[in-house]
Amino acid sequence: MSTDPATASAPESKTNPSTSENKSDDKQIEEKRLDFSNIEIPPKETLINEKGRNKTNVFCVRCPSKILNPRVSKHKSIEFSLPIMKQRRRTEIKEGSGEVEEQDAVKETCNDFWQVDDIYTFENVGFTNTISGFKYLACADCEMGPIGYYDPDSKLSYVALTRVKYD
Ligand SMILES: [Zn+2]
Repeated sequence: MSTDPATASAPESKTNPSTSENKSDDKQIEEKRLDFSNIEIPPKETLINEKGRNKTNVFCVRCPSKILNPRVSKHKSIEFSLPIMKQRRRTEIKEGSGEVEEQDAVKETCNDFWQVDDIYTFENVGFTNTISGFKYLACADCEMGPIGYYDPDSKLSYVALTRVKYD
């Protein structure tokens, strides 16, 4: 379990006195931290209990904010396209300009969701304005999102399995 060789490897330039080298290292680390595609999602089976509910607490991937308590949502296999998460775009901030490239059209198809029947079930969650019939869900604390969507017609919320963290 704790023998992952990737975690043991030290950065090559650790003892390199060159300041410019160190600076680019820092930048790489920063980008890695903000790249949420690297977050390890445990196998689906380990997240779902025998009743099809979420086994563990569900947290924001970026901050310690809790989104759901254990067993309050049901796993649903549905296909829904969500815009890529906002914080990922930080890696695209143009140096010096402070501008972020807008990529709102870029979407990613998610296939597994936690269905939440009542919005008051959430420990913490934020909603966007309605966009083409749906509201997107985001972390209430750091606004990381969208982590899922809310359907105003059915009043059901769906949190993408791969956009949240577990304990
Ligand atoms: Zn958060």
